[in-house]
Amino acid sequence: MSGIYIHIPFCKQACHYCDFHFSTSLQNKGLLVNSILSEIDLRLNYLPNKKIESIYFGGGTPSLLSEKETFLILEKIYKLYNVSKDAEITLECNPDDLTDEKLKELKRLEVNRLSIGLQSFDEEELIWMNRAHTAKESESSVKRAQDRGFENITIDLIYGSKFSNLANWKKTLNKAIALDVKHISSYNLTIEEKTKLGHDFKLKKEVAIDDEKSSELFLEMINRLEKNNFIHYEISNFGQEGFFSLHNSNYWKGEHYLGLGPSAHSFDGQSRQWNVSNNNIYIKRISEKNESYFEKEILTEKERFNEYVLTSLRTIWGIDLNYLSANFNTEFVKHYLNQIEKYIKQETVVINDTTYTLTEKGKLFADKIASELFV
Ligand code: SF4
Repeated sequence: MSGIYIHIPFCKQACHYCDFHFSTSLQNKGLLVNSILSEIDLRLNYLPNKKIESIYFGGGTPSLLSEKETFLILEKIYKLYNVSKDAEITLECNPDDLTDEKLKELKRLEVNRLSIGLQSFDEEELIWMNRAHTAKESESSVKRAQDRGFENITIDLIYGSKFSNLANWKKTLNKAIALDVKHISSYNLTIEEKTKLGHDFKLKKEVAIDDEKSSELFLEMINRLEKNNFIHYEISNFGQEGFFSLHNSNYWKGEHYLGLGPSAHSFDGQSRQWNVSNNNIYIKRISEKNESYFEKEILTEKERFNEYVLTSLRTIWGIDLNYLSANFNTEFVKHYLNQIEKYIKQETVVINDTTYTLTEKGKLFADKIASELFV
């Protein structure tokens, strides 16, 4: 199973916490789409003989593409790749873009999964984040999409800003549950250096909430969502039965994927490559073909081992001892078995047959535990 990711690096305005690659000038949107179309040709041999099970428009804000632009990208992918008939086609959208007309357009394009960036239902917090939509638009966009026949909807929520406390987080979770969406991705706000929030934090105009409070919000989320038929299948992701993200699950399971567009990453099992994170340079290099538009690294066995441990431990599928033994040298496996004992004793990890997964307590320390299992 393989997937194709298309990075659309444009946004209406810059959210104050965001360090993804995007531009708020839409001037070169047409040129950039043409470059993505050219990159599809250039990358034709990246996933040889692979069936494409998922196509994911991420960003940035892919809902800023016109119908024709999205159509041209999809048309070319369908023409050149073996795309499964029931492939998952996800498009990330912001609530303010989801007009009735836009939703009709997405239906015509046969997009079958919407990822809506709600982030918060709190007006004051949305303004502080510099989001381009209101709290009312957050809720109404989901309802409009459902009325237009979109069943497979995921929403993004952020917790851990200075506005977060247990009482309002409970309200947020209740609202999210009441929206009857099938999937929720929820991230603890991180303060990234090269953002407005990072800058203000450095000047001590903003504060970070402490880990204890964050943990309280995280555990409340697990508790509340699991009681409402959501399965916590990855540290930041909750899905109802049959509605896990196929595209992201494939990342976590080490499947191969092709990334198109500026800053997009690709993985073919042995190497990782990433495109230049600059729209103009990407456009120029794709058209002139005399300078590479990506960098590439071949992964060592150690890097592959550490990546497998890090991503698998965060999921419901866990770390499989049989997989470790079949794919890595015995010294690495021995190191793993020595280290993992401590976490089993601490009850942060459980073993079921040959699979190791995090307990609820362990989920609070996922990255720390993984880093101690690294070779
Ligand atoms: S959070 Fe999304 S909409 Fe906001 S700047 Fe980042 S990519 Fe754009």
